[in-house]
Amino acid sequence: MLNKNGQSKKYKAYALRSFRKIPQVEKYLSEEEKTNIEVLGQVLPFKTNNYVVDELIDWNNYKDDPIFHLTFPQKGMLPPEEFDKMAEALKSGKKRMELKAIANEIREKLNPHPAHQMQMNVPELNGEVLPGVQHKYRETALFFPTAGQTCHSYCTFCFRWPQFVGMDGMKFAMKETDIIIDYLAEHPEITDILFTGGDPMIMGYKIFKQYIDPFIKNKDKTNLQTIRIGTKSLSFWPYKYTTDKDADKFIELFKEITEAGFSLAFMAHFNHPVELSTPTVKEAAKRIQSTGAVIRTQSPLVRHINDCPDIWAEMWKKQVNLGMIPYYMFIERDTGAKAHFELPLVETWHIFRKAYQQVSGLSRTVRGPSMSATPGKVQILGVTKIPVNGKMEKVFALQMLQGRNPDWVAKPFFAKYDPEAYWLDDLKPIAGEKFFFDEELEKMKNEALATEDALA
Ligand SMILES: *Cc1c(COP(=O)(O)O)cnc(C)c1O
Repeated sequence: MLNKNGQSKKYKAYALRSFRKIPQVEKYLSEEEKTNIEVLGQVLPFKTNNYVVDELIDWNNYKDDPIFHLTFPQKGMLPPEEFDKMAEALKSGKKRMELKAIANEIREKLNPHPAHQMQMNVPELNGEVLPGVQHKYRETALFFPTAGQTCHSYCTFCFRWPQFVGMDGMKFAMKETDIIIDYLAEHPEITDILFTGGDPMIMGYKIFKQYIDPFIKNKDKTNLQTIRIGTKSLSFWPYKYTTDKDADKFIELFKEITEAGFSLAFMAHFNHPVELSTPTVKEAAKRIQSTGAVIRTQSPLVRHINDCPDIWAEMWKKQVNLGMIPYYMFIERDTGAKAHFELPLVETWHIFRKAYQQVSGLSRTVRGPSMSATPGKVQILGVTKIPVNGKMEKVFALQMLQGRNPDWVAKPFFAKYDPEAYWLDDLKPIAGEKFFFDEELEKMKNEALATEDALA
């Protein structure tokens, strides 16, 4: 079946064992580059597909191409000594188990579980933990359906990388919706359920529908207003909504959701304007919007991919042009190949500001730059000067957009200026030892650890 623009594609994924067969890889990459990918792919996840390769990457310029960098592992992603260790192991023909042991040793050094999410956000129902649910912010629960724990292609900077290399297995996954409905019934403060993953839109129609139906059927039991779907599929596989076998059925199901009285929000992940440029992504967006769903957009700011104000301004303008609503600009999380992708907070703020200044108010629905840190989503308002102990000092002004305690939200606070700060942990209060939320946060951490012990 062809879409309006005469295009159709059958999904084909490429990973470590098959990427050498990609015609563009054969044609353009040197043997050394291919070997590098094999080295990195032992440690970090790698998967791409024929849409990304054929329609998003400019192969004539692949070394500087943002989407090549987004989906193909890059040498700088591992510290040189770790890279060399793995390269040596591969070259000397070590067995699979040995390679795996080396890989795991390297992975452990890459802070695989930041923001204490394994212990701190796991909700309970009747004394049992709900492993596929995270409930950190009062109004919104995250739901990790078991069948949605992979993606159409992996992002090199992905903060959920441990689950894609089998470190976490399916720890954050859940088959059942019944238990979640019970949990929602007990927690009327929850208005939003956010399907996430992986990518929930990797699911086939039948399974996806099985996850959605109970929420529709039990609408009266819960206080749920919004179903959100966190997805990169518009960027990595828009054919899902145009010419794939079940495309029309998905569109029908989205209609059912909105007709049942939910608002349906696509939290679409776009990192670069190129991802908004193909005829298929435009048609996919239109079809989704025709169901009453709203597409909101989010992305981290990442070096080598989108670390330039013009890219962001263009991306937001394109999104608004396509009827999408810019939502969050994130700061790259402190995990995985972070060192390769991160920028100092001050630089991130400059890029945000210079981009924000170039767009009309319709794009300024975007909020950021924001760090999803342990206490909450911390926004960098900017760098300014204030009197500290009678002397003018440069400081960061910050606020929380979301907080583990809702009362922490929208309270401006300060940190010492530090041009080398990359994450909240690098920041120090301007006076005293602690930020206003630190003591309470410490208490919450201890409680979470105690509960974990009790349940273990
Ligand atoms: C970002 C986030 C949400 C959603 O927050 P909104 O500000 O409502 O979009 C929910 N849970 C977690 C853990 C998050 O990081």
